[in-house]
Amino acid sequence: MSFRPDPSRYSQMKYRRTGNSGLLLPELSLGLWHNFGSDHSFSSQRAVLRRAFELGITHFDLANNYGPPYGSAEENFGKHFSKDFRNFRDELVISTKAGYDMWEGPYGNWGSRKYLLASLDQSLTRMGLDYVDIFYSHRFDPETPLEETMGALATAATSGRALYVGISNYDPTQTEKAKQILDSMGVPLLIHQPKYSMFVRTPEKGLFDTLGRLGVGSIVFSPLAQGLLTDRYLDGTTPKDSRISKAKHLTEDKITSEYLTAAKRLNEIAANRGQSLAQLAISWVLRQPAVTSCLIGASSVEQLEQNHQAIAGNPLSAVELQEIDTIAVDGLV
Ligand code: NDP
Repeated sequence: MSFRPDPSRYSQMKYRRTGNSGLLLPELSLGLWHNFGSDHSFSSQRAVLRRAFELGITHFDLANNYGPPYGSAEENFGKHFSKDFRNFRDELVISTKAGYDMWEGPYGNWGSRKYLLASLDQSLTRMGLDYVDIFYSHRFDPETPLEETMGALATAATSGRALYVGISNYDPTQTEKAKQILDSMGVPLLIHQPKYSMFVRTPEKGLFDTLGRLGVGSIVFSPLAQGLLTDRYLDGTTPKDSRISKAKHLTEDKITSEYLTAAKRLNEIAANRGQSLAQLAISWVLRQPAVTSCLIGASSVEQLEQNHQAIAGNPLSAVELQEIDTIAVDGLV
């Protein structure tokens, strides 16, 4: 194994406790939803993962269907793990999820015990791991008894395939119920993974309070609104190598005049603080005490390094926060 990470890596990151648990997570975690499928070179993936680890980013987040094609992000991660990170397994928190469409037929989607446990076994095989640190139910399934979905998570934990369990995209009432059921099975609910950014503020309407009361942590996804809270699209065009040009979950119709006005004003606030817009977006998410970790994506080492510098940014002042509140309206994009 040729990878010899910088020994000073742990001085470059701050770590926060995940709810009431014993697990600390880095303020910045790296997600492999995009940029780790067959459409990105193995060498650029490797460079981003290595640099992340050297910056103290100890948590990599995956899901069964990340790619494209589905499963390829886990497969690629497995290769990187085997080449670079096997000796560092105990320094890493690796998560995966099941809940969205993964394979054909009635057993490859949603929240049944049949799907979740088969999917977890497949994920472990693709990544070449004995266990994941966190296994998530990726979304609430209205058609499956919650007892069954939580029972599958509990089995994942008690069978040793996952150290901790989490839920993603559950509303406050569903979260409360999930926690109750897991408690009755003797398995703690570690963490929730909701979408949260200056443009998507839904968790402020009850979820963060619920998580605080229950002692459950939160790791928030798409804090840069998939790139809309960066300088990527500020001039109103879409660069050829950007997510809008290459992927299906972010489309050009998001670049409205309302978006551009808001993003430019936020960019000015960032510049007055000596930050980029991406750094401001990260500082803003991390100001929220209910947030354990900010789960970013990065298509290059440069983006990753820029985003990492947000950790050293000054806290936002009351005046800055007030100004941001007038611009960062929920549902703007
Ligand atoms: P972000 O909001 O952080 O968007 C990341 C994208 O923004 C990058 O791929 C890049 O896109 C662009 N970007 C990042 N940094 C910069 C920068 N400094 N300057 C310019 N552009 C930048 O997060 P994601 O939407 O990628 O989500 C992060 C993770 O959250 C996922 O990988 C996944 O693990 C998790 N997730 C979970 C979901 C769930 O349902 N639980 C759903 C979605 C995500 P570009 O290609 O344009 O360079």
